Amino acid sequence: MPPRKKAAAPKRSVLIIGSEAVPFAKTGGLADVLGALPAALARLGWMVTVALPRYRGIQDGTLVERLPVTVGGVTADVRFFEAPTADGARALLVDCPELYDRETLYGAGGVDYPDNPRRFAVLVRAALEFAARGGSGPTIVHAHDWQAGLAPVYLKTLYAAHPVIGGTPSVFTIHNLAYQGTCEADWLPRLDLPWNLFTIEQLEYWGRISFLKGGINNAEIITTVSRKYAGEIQTPEVGAGFDGILRRRSADLVGIPNGIDVEQWDPSRDPFLPAAFSAEDLGGKAASKREVLAQYGLPVTDATMRRPLVGMISRMIDQKGFDLIAAIADDLPRLEATFVVLGTGEARYQQLWTALAAAHPDRVGARIGFDEPLAHLIEGGADIFLMPSRFEPCGLNQMYSLRYGTVPVVRGVGGLDDTVRDYSPRSTRSTGFVFHEYTGAALLEALRRALALYGDQRRWRTLQLAGMRQDYSWDRSAREYVKMYERAIKMVAGG
Ligand code: ADP
Repeated sequence: MPPRKKAAAPKRSVLIIGSEAVPFAKTGGLADVLGALPAALARLGWMVTVALPRYRGIQDGTLVERLPVTVGGVTADVRFFEAPTADGARALLVDCPELYDRETLYGAGGVDYPDNPRRFAVLVRAALEFAARGGSGPTIVHAHDWQAGLAPVYLKTLYAAHPVIGGTPSVFTIHNLAYQGTCEADWLPRLDLPWNLFTIEQLEYWGRISFLKGGINNAEIITTVSRKYAGEIQTPEVGAGFDGILRRRSADLVGIPNGIDVEQWDPSRDPFLPAAFSAEDLGGKAASKREVLAQYGLPVTDATMRRPLVGMISRMIDQKGFDLIAAIADDLPRLEATFVVLGTGEARYQQLWTALAAAHPDRVGARIGFDEPLAHLIEGGADIFLMPSRFEPCGLNQMYSLRYGTVPVVRGVGGLDDTVRDYSPRSTRSTGFVFHEYTGAALLEALRRALALYGDQRRWRTLQLAGMRQDYSWDRSAREYVKMYERAIKMVAGG
């Protein structure tokens, strides 16, 4: 028989499910990822749908469908609104006022809404029902964090034999291991889940059930937001009780670093900088430095312009290494450097910096608050950026720093280790300074190494330029996700 002409392959499609996405709803980094990744996947030729709740205040979208979604015997009347997003991707806003029309996304007064298991089970079920109602479902489902953790579970149970979406592979991404989505086991029937999932290999977690665990144990592939963090979360120190669960799946667990918004963070056209600069012409960087010093009320003189300016923008909490800063607080003003810090957080760390600034008004500037324009200006004007984190799933500021020719001094954990290459005089690929031991002394030593090299402007320039030429665009990360989608598809096809 002559070979039949192959029909053009249908466009591959991904159904992304998560609880927040820019520009619709944001409380953290997950929203940035779900705001940027869909467009990058669409640029690679994928059809992309991002399903999230239509929370209070979201006005976007056109009503495209209305379906009853029954979970645990209780039917919700769900309306679906579609809103186009960048580069041809679309958001699917799942509307169900009794579940999502609330003051905040996850809880009130520091306490989670008691019906969160139902709220996010309905989100997942609604997204899957919507996808299943046509003739062909998505090529893959990509679920994010515990709120979407039941998507891989439902695909393997309720929908396993579904004529349209049965057998659809899934990828599960962990952005924050600290949120594990646990609830009492008696939720199982209310979520349409059989009791045989109440085992240690499935959803059971210390006598309760965990949505996060469900996602990890049922997705074909699990990803997290940096390569190093993917290894670290398999250890008791960073695993937050999930290290054993993750070790069991280590063959299918990969790290894919987040990208950054290269439009918003671009020193050649950043409206918050007094002068543009780039790898080709770094001349304008000095104007930002001058402006930072001025805005912090630090002296603007030839001496302070020559002295390296060390910046830090961060939530002031232990995770970000502020206890290390506290340990070397007396040494900092004695270094040949000026320090500026921007952030909010624990009172003791805010006080530490304000006291340092008061005691050394010509050496240290502290600004307590959240200030996006100033954050851009510091990235533009600082020579060195400090990020001594205890742990860091991915981290963004070190990538902004690299793009702005601001040499990062970081602890070699998580995304910091993925993105910053420690200085070696023999390598032209070094981009910053990395220390490992979690001590003030190790941080101080790395900082001293950076300050010493700053004296050698030729070598310093090589370091800056190597960082500025790195690619941290979402396109790069999206290509890695596509590889994982393809691997998951093969895993299911191969039985
Ligand atoms: P995390 O998400 O753990 O806080 P990241 O480095 O991943 O740390 O991202 C922090 C983001 O928040 C960056 O974009 C950073 O510039 C911004 N940011 C943090 N604190 C402030 C602040 N006080 N003012 C302005 N931007 C801030």
